[in-house]
Amino acid sequence: MTAIRLDCLGSGFAFSHGRDWSGFVLNGRILLDAPPQTLAALYRLGGAEAAVQLDLVLISHLHADHILGMDLLLLELEQGAVSALRGERPLAVAGPPGTYARLRGIVGRSDRLPARTDPRLVWLEDDAPSRFTWGDIDVERIELQHDPTLTAHGYRVRLDGGVVAYTGDTRSCPAIEVLAEGADVLIVECAGPPRAGAPATHLDWPEVYALRERLPARTRLLVTHYDRLAAPPADSLPRGMVLAEDGRSYPFD
Ligand SMILES: [Zn+2]
Repeated sequence: MTAIRLDCLGSGFAFSHGRDWSGFVLNGRILLDAPPQTLAALYRLGGAEAAVQLDLVLISHLHADHILGMDLLLLELEQGAVSALRGERPLAVAGPPGTYARLRGIVGRSDRLPARTDPRLVWLEDDAPSRFTWGDIDVERIELQHDPTLTAHGYRVRLDGGVVAYTGDTRSCPAIEVLAEGADVLIVECAGPPRAGAPATHLDWPEVYALRERLPARTRLLVTHYDRLAAPPADSLPRGMVLAEDGRSYPFD
């Protein structure tokens, strides 16, 4: 039986280049980042039920392409067609410190973002390294190195007997391999090299290939947050490395 299923809501980097922005649903229950198209992509994935079934949202960092989808997702959950289906079951939202404040800044004073104390949402903001559980989901946070002006967290998730690690956005740093320890799947970003003269804030293709070489074969790489115009042909990739595509589902056993 397959322990892990990742549904790709989008695979694009910040500039998109025609892709939806990167985000995933893990085993139908955990949203890995909330790109702008989250609600529409959830409906395409599984209708209203895909939003209803979410138990946990993991926000890696507070750049727009990773968090703007929260506004309309929360509007739907609180006031839309699925609100009656969801009942009293709370949704947990984990992110770096400042996640709620950032969403409040996006939504303004509107009640489409409930008060921080509202029991329908549970805010799990913390520094890394740290660990929490939400029901049967076990989550470790590990700090990665992305934009020096903000905190970027990677997540290692244990659920249904599987281990999935997710980098969010990061440049090459030793913490990626710490994050990947024991993982069945590593979802890894590859937004490419920086502009000339600018410091690196993302992984590039040679770094992702080198990471594939260093990690054990049992850890499959699912590459996302990439520029499709600069990506290698999917059939040229080494064994154990898959390019994520918008709207596709990836079962791993
Ligand atoms: Zn970013």
